[in-house]
Amino acid sequence: MTAHPLFDIGGRTALVTGSSRGIGLALARGLAEAGCTVVLNGRDPDRLAEAASELPGDRVRTAAFDVTDGPAVAAGIADVEERVGPLDILVNNAGMQLRAPLLEFTDADWHRILDANLTSAFLVGREAARRMTERGHGKIVNICSLQSEVVRPGIAPYAATKGALKMLTKGMCADWGPHGVQVNGLGPGYIETELTRPLVDDEEFSAWVRRRTPAGRWGRTEDLVGALLFLASPAADFMGGQILYVDGGMTSVL
Ligand code: NAP
Repeated sequence: MTAHPLFDIGGRTALVTGSSRGIGLALARGLAEAGCTVVLNGRDPDRLAEAASELPGDRVRTAAFDVTDGPAVAAGIADVEERVGPLDILVNNAGMQLRAPLLEFTDADWHRILDANLTSAFLVGREAARRMTERGHGKIVNICSLQSEVVRPGIAPYAATKGALKMLTKGMCADWGPHGVQVNGLGPGYIETELTRPLVDDEEFSAWVRRRTPAGRWGRTEDLVGALLFLASPAADFMGGQILYVDGGMTSVL
């Protein structure tokens, strides 16, 4: 049995930011398995080379640049398009978490998390969309979060960035949709990665996640791949500004 042609993204070129590990690497693997040429991104070239060696096929490339640095992003996207080819798919995935009570949160950390989780999507998205809108097609998927909708004590700044990323997704859709670029978001629930390691290792918190999630478990990075492939495919050509939550049902229940 073959997949429906609406889901065929073979031959496309995709950039996944923050893909040296965790969710980004799993999403990049999914795109590679679906027949895309995939560009991995992160700040550490050695880590990227190691990650690239783990992916299947011979169409995996790397591009090391800091997604919070405007000039580096402009040069990075120009270099990717010249070296690898025109981007059909961009996944804005790079991000970070800083957990601290809001009263103790420093100015520096506030700006750091905003830069990493929100400004990055603006900078990389704008640079890619300048080219995609000119060509009249493209898919951008912003990795939002369960925390685009809900929050718990100690992560207010993170939730603020992810809530804003949801609205940036809708705004990108408004500006770039008329030029053939579909922009949507993917909202993971609690997924086991380096970013959530302290929570996974906290048995009490971990048990709370399992109890609170209708699926009864933590998410795995692979759980997110199907939703990404859908949003990156022609099957989602009439979808814009939507956030697809892949959270084991957590945002649906009290
Ligand atoms: P992770 O394991 O910490 O990986 C983060 C990735 O981003 C790494 O590859 C890191 O590489 C890269 N990165 C960080 N800052 C960067 C920068 N300034 N420039 C370029 N690359 C940068 O995190 P994750 O759990 O996979 O999370 C990925 C995304 O999913 C994030 O946006 C996160 O907010 C979101 N998310 C995660 C969860 C979860 O439960 N894990 C849930 C909802 C949403 P280098 O450090 O080498 O640069």
